[in-house]
Amino acid sequence: MRSIEKSQQAFKDASNYFPGGVDSPVRAFKNVGGNPLFIKKGAGSHIYDIDGHDYIDYVLSWGPLILGHADAKVVTALKAAVSNGTSYGAPTLLETTLAKKIQSIVPTMEMMRMVSSGTEATMSAIRVARGVTKRDKIVKFIGNYHGHSDSLLVDAGSGVATFDINTSPGVPKALAYDTLTSPYNDVATIKQIFEKHGDEIACVIVEPVAGNMGVIPGTQDFLQTLRELTQQHGSILIFDEVMSGFRAAYRGAQSLYGIQPDMTTLGKVVGGGLPVGVFGGRRDIMKQVAPQGPIYHAGTLSGNPLAMTGGISTLEQLTPALYDQMTEKVNRLAKGIKDAAASHHIPIVVHHVGTMWSYFFNQGPVNNFDDVQRSDMAFFAKFFNALLAQGIYTAPSEYETNFMSSKHTDDEIDQTIAGFNQAFDDVLKG
Ligand code: PMP
Repeated sequence: MRSIEKSQQAFKDASNYFPGGVDSPVRAFKNVGGNPLFIKKGAGSHIYDIDGHDYIDYVLSWGPLILGHADAKVVTALKAAVSNGTSYGAPTLLETTLAKKIQSIVPTMEMMRMVSSGTEATMSAIRVARGVTKRDKIVKFIGNYHGHSDSLLVDAGSGVATFDINTSPGVPKALAYDTLTSPYNDVATIKQIFEKHGDEIACVIVEPVAGNMGVIPGTQDFLQTLRELTQQHGSILIFDEVMSGFRAAYRGAQSLYGIQPDMTTLGKVVGGGLPVGVFGGRRDIMKQVAPQGPIYHAGTLSGNPLAMTGGISTLEQLTPALYDQMTEKVNRLAKGIKDAAASHHIPIVVHHVGTMWSYFFNQGPVNNFDDVQRSDMAFFAKFFNALLAQGIYTAPSEYETNFMSSKHTDDEIDQTIAGFNQAFDDVLKG
């Protein structure tokens, strides 16, 4: 049994200063019956805790680190950038360089704005959609998570689901009232919502590949229906690709379905581990953002030079071939996990799209939030801890996604599959 004494002490200390001892709820291991590990450093596919243990990391800062921790080129670029100062509050060439790179990969981003988080990106995109359409209602899907802004914190996934909060106290009723929710992948219900409210709906925001209730791919029919309904009713379709962008595929989930949203939000990988979010899309829509138009959006640190550098040096290293390699590793891992579960007679559903993967202790199928809730969460908690004890660091909730980086080796995939087999043995032994 490894000692995690230093992490335990650090958590106790942190708990005096931060609610639940953390700066973001999903970091707490509360629902898996433990306390979080405190991390000292990361290198490639590994993280190291303050007690000196190392782990193969599949959380990867919740997605951003597609090149693994402390990628040499990213670190070199950041060191050079920091010596020129950390922020100017004035335009730099770096912002346009990153914007051009983003547009070359995701062409629907005709115009965009840099922000500092995914939450800001989706919150701002919604304001733009409301401003452009002059309507108040928005539609989101149950179990999708779009950050913690008021309008979007309704029936959300991720930590909101993990901690069973549903709709947070503090969200004004009036705002929640304007957020209509519908089950994911449910064509009939969204059609009914549009029949009833179609002309009041500013936008539909959706994770085209959902990653905040585990990985659940949107069906082609569902996403196509959203495209058609929004077009028919003059509503704006927003693909929230904060997670799926540069993750579900090189060119994002939108490239997998061949559907063009009006607006897209990006985050995570686009900043390479620094705080970046982006919202953008159709030029005629984005032109209405201040100071070109009247819809207000601003940020002291928007387009921050270090954050831009993190994004540029990450995106410059991404290629379709790299995605083929990472996806192949995910495919092999997914098969290994399924085989391990089968040989232990444990019902499991493994979902993966590109570099995103997750598993549910569930008879299946798992196509929406209700399905996820039927999973055996108690078994998951034990299983998570059994993996952790072997040095495999995965997301501490069934409502989250695991990731793959370019630095994970074939040997590490084999080691992880062996780890899953061992964890099933350990949990079944009790
Ligand atoms: N949208 C999606 C799809 C996300 O997965 C997340 C974060 N997990 C967000 C928005 C919010 O991003 P952030 O945590 O950077 O505010």
